[in-house]
Amino acid sequence: MRIETKAVHSGERDKKRQNRSVITPTEQTAAYYFEDTQQIKDFYEGRLSGIKYGRYGCPTQHAVEEKIADLEGAERALLFSSGMNAFTTTILSLVKKGQHILFTDDCYRNIRKFFVEILPAFGIEATEIPIDDIQNVEKYIQDNTVLFFSELPTNPFLRVIALSHITGVMKSRGIKTLIDSTFGSPVNVRPIEHGADLILHSATKYLGGHHDLFAGAVAGNSELISKIQQYRDIFGGIIDPHTSYLLLRSLQTLPLRMKAHNENAQRIAEWLEKRSEVEKVWYPGCKSHPDHESAKKQMSGFGGVITFTLKSGEEETGRFVDSLRIPYIATNFGGPQSLIEQHAVLTFYKDRKESERRGITGNLLRYSVGFEDVNDVLGDFENAFKAICEVIK
Ligand code: PLP
Repeated sequence: MRIETKAVHSGERDKKRQNRSVITPTEQTAAYYFEDTQQIKDFYEGRLSGIKYGRYGCPTQHAVEEKIADLEGAERALLFSSGMNAFTTTILSLVKKGQHILFTDDCYRNIRKFFVEILPAFGIEATEIPIDDIQNVEKYIQDNTVLFFSELPTNPFLRVIALSHITGVMKSRGIKTLIDSTFGSPVNVRPIEHGADLILHSATKYLGGHHDLFAGAVAGNSELISKIQQYRDIFGGIIDPHTSYLLLRSLQTLPLRMKAHNENAQRIAEWLEKRSEVEKVWYPGCKSHPDHESAKKQMSGFGGVITFTLKSGEEETGRFVDSLRIPYIATNFGGPQSLIEQHAVLTFYKDRKESERRGITGNLLRYSVGFEDVNDVLGDFENAFKAICEVIK
């Protein structure tokens, strides 16, 4: 089955439904009853399938989990209440006191915070690898390293590491690889095909796809997923039946939506590259991107996020943002509405030292391309450039 067919049917087809509905029904319940005490015994002894309590899952959630696993080419997947919950639960279930993690430095701010500020209290150490030094990854490995983490592509510079090489190195040292593929989506890249052990998603982005839900997912082999599930059952970061249903419905259109994100973003990025007001564009689909070749080898599309800098200062960049009429000024991506953010201001306002350290300057913008007509978006940019052109000149 191709990915379009899997997106529509995986996790849903061949399931008995009471009234033969085409759509997977949602049972909006937290509790599940037993007919009698014998049923409890049958349940625990494996003669009766089903669910005991909603924190351990619900039928709609299980359908989504099966669909995500199939899309990623994984044995199993788990859903969580947010991407951060999926991430923290996964790390704490796989890494123990005295062990060590490697992670690439261009990553979501709170992921880095967890590694650097929270894990040391648990006796776990993490080392940040500058993404430009990733070819020397071996020199960062310690005797107690058990996990390598990277986003693919990374945030906000959309860097694309050579995954097969990295996973080869890690496997030879007995180290597991966890890839946050939120910026990739299973339509554009499937890290398991490149040797990754586990895939993480903030399903709040492309998988949810409408800026209206919070969810996270982890996919991998049954053994690792069962271990993570034990922790999720205790930490309690599950999603409710209704959110599961929204996600199930969204996933059916994921390939169609990714096609639109990929095509629109490619056109917009190429257009931005030609503008005299633009200093630099980072989009893996453009030849100018430092990892364009690596991206072409691993990805079938390059996503809906474009990062670029203007040839202007922070204040004028803010004015440019304020002059745009189409995108919302907001931080997220992967929905129908385009969003724009001056990353250093919206995300790093209270942490400017960190944004400067990472090269996220005041003139850097992250544009999350939606489904508006591209000509309208370009017209909107044109007007905003005009509004600030005096300052830029
Ligand atoms: N991973 C990446 C790459 C992200 O960008 C984010 C959030 O922006 C997360 C994980 C966390 O996901 P959530 O916001 O769903 O908790």
